[in-house]
Amino acid sequence: MKLENRIAIITGGGRGIGRAIALEFARHGARVVLAARTAQDVEKTAAQIGNEGTALPVVCDVSDVASVQLMFARVLVKFGGGADILVNNAGIAESAPLAKTDDDLWQRHLAINLSGTFYCTRAAVPAMLERGWGRVINVASIAGKTGAPYIAAYAASKHGVLGLTRSIALELAAKGITVNAICPGYVDTDMAARGVENVTAKTGRSAEQALEAIKKTSPQNRLITVEEVAALALLLASEEGRGINGQAINIDGGAVLF
Ligand code: NDP
Repeated sequence: MKLENRIAIITGGGRGIGRAIALEFARHGARVVLAARTAQDVEKTAAQIGNEGTALPVVCDVSDVASVQLMFARVLVKFGGGADILVNNAGIAESAPLAKTDDDLWQRHLAINLSGTFYCTRAAVPAMLERGWGRVINVASIAGKTGAPYIAAYAASKHGVLGLTRSIALELAAKGITVNAICPGYVDTDMAARGVENVTAKTGRSAEQALEAIKKTSPQNRLITVEEVAALALLLASEEGRGINGQAINIDGGAVLF
């Protein structure tokens, strides 16, 4: 029970990677807060955790600072304290060539992927400072380290997340708080499935061909599973992970080597 009695907020905890992290943390004794915009998803994940732990589903839009503040207020009421662990996982990924990257698409990515991470971290850190212990885990992407065609807004937002991670990690390093980023390649979730649909729609390739092309971006020729990402998040959240700070750890089969 590596996370016994810890309070962990997982944004985007209703499905995909966030859901897997929530289930893994609950299995290790954490009380988990699942925050996303779709009530049905967070309630379903909370129900799945059931007797295994205490789960609080909260409807929250991380790009809206008032909604984030409300979520933290609900955590305080429910658990009597702030979060020990914050996983900034909520995110969107849409692709478009530069000429079709309109203001809305650009702002949406910055607001959810980058500002959402900032708002939640700023709200979570005071309680961590009080306790002298905390973990912030940002689910970024290898697109936070490299570029690729048609994902300028997504890649820019994820590069921003790494800058935020490294700066806050140094600011809080002597206070018992670590701040790290996880940088996955393609993970087998709805987001990757939408990527397949997109390639199919735009290139006329079959779904199988599109999936093969996506797999080939990894030297392991496969998608990463959500459980693999959750296992890494558990290490970063645990006591044993206390020496790992300010890192952006790739989990991509070796596609990006820095
Ligand atoms: P999914 O689309 O399956 O899940 C995304 C989650 O984020 C959902 O729970 C969604 O809930 C939530 N979310 C989106 N916008 C908001 C918002 N404004 N406020 C609160 N919650 C929000 O994606 P994944 O699980 O695949 O992705 C999770 C993270 O991992 C993302 O940050 C993504 O960029 C990153 N990642 C994913 C990769 C992949 O291949 N899947 C690769 C690399 C990184 P709702 O819509 O209900 O709000």
